[in-house]
Amino acid sequence: MRERIVAGNWKMNLNKLSIKNFINDFPSLVADIKEVKNIIFPPYVYLYLFQEQDEIHYGGQNIYYEENGAFTSEISSGMLRDMGCKYVIVGHSERRHIFGEKNDLLNKKLQSALDNNLIPVFCIGETLKERKANRQFNVLETQLKEGLNGIKNIEKIIFAYEPVWAIGTGETATPEIAEGAHKFIREELNKLFSNAGENITILYGGSVKPQNTGSLIKMKNIDGFLVGGASLQPESFSEITRLSRED
Ligand code: PEP
Repeated sequence: MRERIVAGNWKMNLNKLSIKNFINDFPSLVADIKEVKNIIFPPYVYLYLFQEQDEIHYGGQNIYYEENGAFTSEISSGMLRDMGCKYVIVGHSERRHIFGEKNDLLNKKLQSALDNNLIPVFCIGETLKERKANRQFNVLETQLKEGLNGIKNIEKIIFAYEPVWAIGTGETATPEIAEGAHKFIREELNKLFSNAGENITILYGGSVKPQNTGSLIKMKNIDGFLVGGASLQPESFSEITRLSRED
């Protein structure tokens, strides 16, 4: 079922005090908004602060696909479950482009998350170079085909279209560009998984802020947002949540 979701990817930001303050302040700002689900992805070391509360959904920013073993600094799906996580980001563009994660690795991560009852937020999107060469749809198609290879229960996955050129740059995709990509992703999922795309939640990510939320959420195939910078303050994140309500 398509869900209205506004998720916050905190990346390597904030600290114990600011996160405690966020957990304290945020719930009352969105208490009246029942139709939008918020999910926060804090740095791993602060997950325990979320385990001590029950108002904010939360998850991990990444996983390794093995259950345990000699993989220094990695975290498994089972460990995230152990910390009360229900969600995990897989394939964020910073993982793909700074840390070199490829589609076949991400495929294993997706399978591991699903096997452990974690809901993956699977990020896909093209670079500026790829868009300039008009290759954005080929890139999305490959990321979907290879990333989802052999995956059975794709209805458990949340997708996030995040054009790399719009992440953390202040440059947002226009509503039309974002809608075009979301429509393409939904149609691809329909093709690959016998019409399953109609019921899949697809988020947009890339410099989302209160000023551009309204025009993006109006688009038919945009179900919500994955927000970086503007999710770090309760005020802007709650404002994006408020503006993302159903019309
Ligand atoms: C992100 O980290 O997924 C993201 C979209 O970041 P920002 O909103 O800062 O562009």
